[in-house]
Amino acid sequence: MPAPIKLLILGGTAEAMALARALADDSRTTPLLSLAGRTKNPAVPPIPWRRGGFGGAEGLADFLVEGGFDALIDATHPFAARISANAQAASTVAGIPLLALRRPPWKKTPGAHWISVPDIAAAAQALGITPRRVFLTIGRQDLVPFREAPWHHYLIRSVDPPDPAFLPPDCAVIAARGPFSRASECELLAAHKIDLLVTKNSGGVMREKLDAAHALGIPVVMVDRPAPSAAVATADGIAGVMAWLDRLHGVMRGV
Ligand code: NAP
Repeated sequence: MPAPIKLLILGGTAEAMALARALADDSRTTPLLSLAGRTKNPAVPPIPWRRGGFGGAEGLADFLVEGGFDALIDATHPFAARISANAQAASTVAGIPLLALRRPPWKKTPGAHWISVPDIAAAAQALGITPRRVFLTIGRQDLVPFREAPWHHYLIRSVDPPDPAFLPPDCAVIAARGPFSRASECELLAAHKIDLLVTKNSGGVMREKLDAAHALGIPVVMVDRPAPSAAVATADGIAGVMAWLDRLHGVMRGV
């Protein structure tokens, strides 16, 4: 039997956690899950884990080499572009294979009213000059551009409360962690008299807020994903990662 594949997983997503669960009893791998450390009380993974940055691509490459890692999986959020670029550069320097685990983007339901924008600043501009009641579900790091449109009322939902310095003047904040049901999303939208939803195209199966907005006829400002690197092998689910690990394990066994 060859030694298990020593695997670094860059996480911070539900997919990374699902992968950790899938690998918890997999004798082919010795996985380590890495979290950025943004969330104060992250769910505890069932495999060894660490938190905090590496110090750029160079620091990540050093971590991979010094730790004797055989492979890297980038299971970070589709909008976490910097760590993904670092993963690509560091895996090349360390000379180890890289796989990106990316949930598929959301597709528009026929008849839904979506306004697609390229980034958060464009989302703030797309709100227009008429005062609206806007539901922001973009996390707590990207709120600053909405301070430029202070005539809107904002309902802001994030896992941890945002820094008050980032908040637009007229806002209410809800700290909550999903999943949320479609019924509770409908209730929330109605209770706060929301007339516009802003979200990033995070993708995945949890699209209840989009379904709720569609059901209530509320338009959605959808921030498109940053373009992923075409040079990185990608899986869109756990089965694809397992198939990639099977192949890697075969190569390490010389078959
Ligand atoms: P980012 O801009 O791509 O990364 C900023 C820096 O954070 C990186 O350069 C790296 O620091 C550190 N970092 C990021 N992910 C890390 C990880 N898994 N392990 C160790 N260090 C990590 O990322 P971000 O958009 O701030 O997101 C931070 C984390 O939150 C990511 O892990 C992501 O999966 C998760 N997340 C992001 C979003 C989003 O909308 N952006 C949504 C949900 C979850 P060094 O350069 O010092 O290594």
